[in-house]
Amino acid sequence: MTSNNTFTMIKPDAMADGHMGKILAHIQAAGFRFKALKMTRLSQAQAEAFYAVHAARPFYGELVAFMSSGPVLAAVLEKDQAVADFRTLIGATNPEQAAEGTIRKLYARSIGENAVHGSDSDENAAIEAAFFFSGLEQA
Ligand code: ADP
Ligand code: MG
Repeated sequence: MTSNNTFTMIKPDAMADGHMGKILAHIQAAGFRFKALKMTRLSQAQAEAFYAVHAARPFYGELVAFMSSGPVLAAVLEKDQAVADFRTLIGATNPEQAAEGTIRKLYARSIGENAVHGSDSDENAAIEAAFFFSGLEQA
């Protein structure tokens, strides 16, 4: 199986709650390699653009406000089956429904403030990585 990439963000709730280091260790222990890593803060316009696919959803305004409310840690991760394996590692969108031991079960506050983002396809992983990182920054 060829290695491929996914994109993640540690969201403002987990950053504010002091979970950044534990989440990074959890990701590394699961066999992902960090190809790029950046702490930054999204403006409202940047959060709107990143989540444009959800613009019609009722929670879009709340999501944009939350994602621009504080720093995030953005990363490109490499592993065999990166997208699927990372979705398994983070668990369901709603932490109440996430499997035991998943990052969202352990660290998320709620369905909206759910600790981490994970790409849902190889195509979106590439788009999302390029939103945050240049090719040169993905070692
Ligand atoms: P996932 O992050 O698991 O791929 P989605 O792509 O469906 O989930 O939604 C994107 C993000 O929007 C979620 O991670 C969460 O932060 C937020 N969100 C999703 N559903 C809801 C909801 N019902 N109420 C509030 N926020 C939500
Ligand atoms: Mg999604």
